[in-house]
Amino acid sequence: MLNILIVGNGQCGNRILDAINKEAFGGKGKLAKFYSQQKYKSNVETIAINTAMNDLKEMRFTKAKDRIHIPHLHGVGANRNVGKHVFEDNKANIMRQVEERGNFDIGFVITSASGGTGSSFTPPLIEELKRNYDFPIYAIVVLPFREEGTLYLQNAAFCLKDIRESGVDGIILADNQFLKQMGGDVQSAYNTINDMIAKRILFLIDALDSEMMMVTDLGDFKTVMSGGAGVATIGFYEADKGTPIKSAIQKAVSPSGLLFSTDVYKEGSRAMVIIKGDKSYLSIDEISTEVEKLSSSVGHVFKGIIVRKGETPQVLAVLTLEVAEELENLYSVAVDAIHQEREKKARVEEQKGIDKAFSQIEGLEPGY
Ligand code: GDP
Repeated sequence: MLNILIVGNGQCGNRILDAINKEAFGGKGKLAKFYSQQKYKSNVETIAINTAMNDLKEMRFTKAKDRIHIPHLHGVGANRNVGKHVFEDNKANIMRQVEERGNFDIGFVITSASGGTGSSFTPPLIEELKRNYDFPIYAIVVLPFREEGTLYLQNAAFCLKDIRESGVDGIILADNQFLKQMGGDVQSAYNTINDMIAKRILFLIDALDSEMMMVTDLGDFKTVMSGGAGVATIGFYEADKGTPIKSAIQKAVSPSGLLFSTDVYKEGSRAMVIIKGDKSYLSIDEISTEVEKLSSSVGHVFKGIIVRKGETPQVLAVLTLEVAEELENLYSVAVDAIHQEREKKARVEEQKGIDKAFSQIEGLEPGY
């Protein structure tokens, strides 16, 4: 049995963590009694961290004792410098919360890259965890919609760089911009995206802790995640009875299955493909042929098969990337945003326009 730590930082991290808890406990309700019915055999400990009390209150499936409020008036207002200070001031408390939960074999830290709390807490938290423990830690990072504004874009660029330099064992990317094709208003897009991420993480946990017909384990996952340029994404596909297993594998690594825009055949570095379902759907020949096709362009592909009686086939693919064109695009938009912010600041400094307006009445009194 694996001991797994999942931390959700900031609003986005909290919500995805809550979606994981919802899915893990069957999504039945918010009451503690359902915690005894966890569907997974791993020992999963979850911690939600936020400076905004309201975000923590909004969580419906995460135990109250797992929601940690870090007091700082009304959040950190997308300012990562403020956020980093707040983390530093509360580091001991946060680390104690982790320590109280025991030992872990693997940890995940979930955050958006672009907000304030999650994006500034995550890099130093990972750094601190790596300093104190020797289990691998993976960041699950949500990238912003590109039209969310200059501050979010520059935060995303610096946050990702900071996470990469934190000693993290790998970064799993999910991109709101890419996933917004799911449609609907923002709130329902968030819910759909969060559920997609939750489903993939729980499948992964289930797979790492399962007895498989063909085995992949934590060691293989670590090897996959250490490949490429340190960034990865996850694909998933749930097939119906009539879908040949080879099409299910193809769909899991196609844009409709992935959390981040990439052509895995061009950008992939290593992969782990896990197929789960009733034996009748799992043609080993078909699976092997398809996996070989993938490995001919990706490099090394680990393959796992979990037989689950009566279940329709599901495919999970973890893919590390050698290059990520979409990330390069994001950084070039972020560089523009950083320049724009800098120019705006310089203009304000130069003109002091509003101060000039006020200064005209300096020393005067209103006359009535
Ligand atoms: P923080 O609370 O200060 O860490 O800030 P947020 O987590 O709200 O960060 C803002 C970014 O997260 C924006 O890019 C939002 O689009 C994104 N975001 C906020 N909530 C959610 C959510 O529930 N799901 C997803 N996928 N993205 C979210």
